[in-house]
Amino acid sequence: MSKLIVANWKANPLLQKEALDLARKTEALTAACKKTEVVVAPPFIFLPDLKPILRKVKLGAQDAFWLEGPHTGEISVLQLKKFGIEFVIIGHSERRIQLGETDEIVNEKVKAALAKGLKTILCVGETIREEGAIPEIVGVQLKTALRGVLKSQLKNLIVAYEPIWAVSSNPGAKADTPSDAHQALLFLKKKLSILYGVKEAEMVRIIYGGSVNSRNVEAYLREGKMQGVLVGQACLDPEELAKMLKIANRIP
Ligand code: PEP
Repeated sequence: MSKLIVANWKANPLLQKEALDLARKTEALTAACKKTEVVVAPPFIFLPDLKPILRKVKLGAQDAFWLEGPHTGEISVLQLKKFGIEFVIIGHSERRIQLGETDEIVNEKVKAALAKGLKTILCVGETIREEGAIPEIVGVQLKTALRGVLKSQLKNLIVAYEPIWAVSSNPGAKADTPSDAHQALLFLKKKLSILYGVKEAEMVRIIYGGSVNSRNVEAYLREGKMQGVLVGQACLDPEELAKMLKIANRIP
């Protein structure tokens, strides 16, 4: 299965012309990668600009609201779907921390996104790496987010394991070790098999996020056996992105 590289631009870049430039570079780099699936999740304001210039790169949104109508400031799952967006990131730790997004809110968003057939990247991760944090925190995040999600919808689910302490926006962030990230992957697969069955759990791609760059991406994909990576900071730098894609593309 091809590796999934998700570029989360967050609230970057500042200007439309910078967004177009970065998108064109990302598209050109991706066109050369036969075995890698690349998703760009720009700020909402750039989605209409990027849509006509991206061919091989798929478009993602960084969030979505579960309802349409009187919800000031929100963009609904259905609007994204009608606009032609294929992927959506839900439950990113920056939203959970900075905006108080709860597991219950994440659950509403995940259910709505999957119900509309969007490929849904559910972010989970513990705040501090300590004994029991993965089963207690990540386990609850996963179980709550998937309440009401049907087996038949799992083919569109991707779980991004993103330990919060490893995400570059946090002071002192340090990437996880590939072997610990792999343990988290095994935990997530096990939890998914308990919830849905072994065969069904296999359909869910598990990816890693947290200070991924061209120096460590290979280790997550090989040793960590991750099916992809979610990248923030490093995907804003075309040189870094070029190196990461080249590496990902040669890993079976
Ligand atoms: C992210 O945006 O989800 C992320 C992991 O960011 P960074 O790669 O900058 O740590």
